[in-house]
Amino acid sequence: MYPTLSLFINGEFIEGQGRKTEPVLNPATLEELGKLPHATQDDLDLALKSAQTAFESWRHSSPIERSDILRKVAQLCRDNAQEIGRNITLDQGKPLAESVAEVINCSEHADWHAEECRRIYGRIIPPRNPAVRQMVVREPIGVCAAFTPWNFPFNQAIRKITAAIGAGCTIIIKGPEDSPSAVMAIAKMFHEAGLPKGVLNVVWGVPAEVSDYLIRSPIVRKVSFTGSVPVGKQLAALAGAHMKPVTMELGGHSPVLVFPDIDIPRVAKQLAYFKVRNAGQVCISPTRFYIHEDIYEPFKDAFINVLANVNVGNGLEAETEMGPLAHERRLAVMDNFVQDALSHGGRLELGGSQSEGTGYFYGPTVLADVPDHAMIMTEEPFGPIAPLTRFSDTTDVLKRANSLPFGLASYAFTNNLQTAHTVSNELQAGMVSINHFGVSIAETPFGGIKDSGIGSEGGTETFDGYLVTKFITQR
Ligand code: NAD
Repeated sequence: MYPTLSLFINGEFIEGQGRKTEPVLNPATLEELGKLPHATQDDLDLALKSAQTAFESWRHSSPIERSDILRKVAQLCRDNAQEIGRNITLDQGKPLAESVAEVINCSEHADWHAEECRRIYGRIIPPRNPAVRQMVVREPIGVCAAFTPWNFPFNQAIRKITAAIGAGCTIIIKGPEDSPSAVMAIAKMFHEAGLPKGVLNVVWGVPAEVSDYLIRSPIVRKVSFTGSVPVGKQLAALAGAHMKPVTMELGGHSPVLVFPDIDIPRVAKQLAYFKVRNAGQVCISPTRFYIHEDIYEPFKDAFINVLANVNVGNGLEAETEMGPLAHERRLAVMDNFVQDALSHGGRLELGGSQSEGTGYFYGPTVLADVPDHAMIMTEEPFGPIAPLTRFSDTTDVLKRANSLPFGLASYAFTNNLQTAHTVSNELQAGMVSINHFGVSIAETPFGGIKDSGIGSEGGTETFDGYLVTKFITQR
């Protein structure tokens, strides 16, 4: 059953009750799944007050208590992965196996934060005078406001929530209105795990209105956002005006460098499947394919051969390998990328159009010999389009790969150790993955540089954005 959609404030699930609502649609069938209530200003004020009140005791909670709750949530993720995954497929569209995997992977994020929150250590600094004791302690920053998107609606929300709660902060989160079931499920699990009221609050509404209200509130001390670069810049500017630190996980435009010494069929298949994961709506999706000229043609053929046989359909059907795009608006964006690439001399080798019938389906698309100045090579595609281009020289391709303001993930495939060493040193990105796709696991930091963001989630860095440093000196 698709869940009843509600706000979650001060430990209570609050349904519509006269509030403005918006319909939530299944992007594969366009059926209405439910109505999502928007928070009123009174609701936002109540969420702020509840988070503020809860912080007064939660900041003194023991790491063991916080760890126990996070562990219970990890177990609940595993226990409920099928049901939660099914609902994510219904409101977001990705294949069921991907939705279920997202929830299971998030149990690891919850476990990781349960472990790491027991290790938020301070330090002793040797004093100049033996009568003095000098300590550095790390304290929770306070009430956090978080805004998360629709592409990994479970993952992006639980990462922020577990980091805030594990650090001893309280949090108000506005999840994605288009795909709300995942955040609803997270709220229910924390509630069931015994989280005190007010520590986690979930609100919905018009994104710009809710974020503006929360970020301006003097109660909020920290802002965390995952989404597009332009929105991230707006929110970071507003947070900066109120002297609030931010964690920003923003868009990318990940280059993938394919060198001539690789196993072509194997790498072509790996890249093709990674490209269509979540229909390409992934901030770390490979999006600029630089293929060495010596293997360009055979690589292109092998790559297209795999993509041409990808099963596109309703994510609930067992054979589906790629679902619809999450929104109608993304279809027009895809068409625009393709037309622009063609007008700049690129060639359409596969796909390039919406599928017939109901739902926001867009087939896997390959564009060949796309010039670097085409829009698809400079703006984040966020869809199932792969533009291919040639290179011959390593220094030159690194320059091209580093030429954009983005710096999230980047990839290279080579069997040459020296080449691997050079590209991992020289690629300007928060994450570099060589010969596989391994950048989103609990124990490693996830984040971008340049326009792609500020700060990391996961790894031992995960609490950095949710703590402040206090120096105590005592004589
Ligand atoms: P968008 O920029 O309108 O929205 C992106 C996300 O930000 C959505 O979840 C939206 O609800 C939220 N948002 C928008 N304005 C906001 C505001 N003022 N305050 C708070 N939240 C706000 O774009 P879209 O059409 O939904 O998505 C397409 C683009 O978004 C893509 O091109 C991609 O760059 C980016 N995106 C990135 C990620 C990521 O993981 N980094 C995730 C989703 C979308």
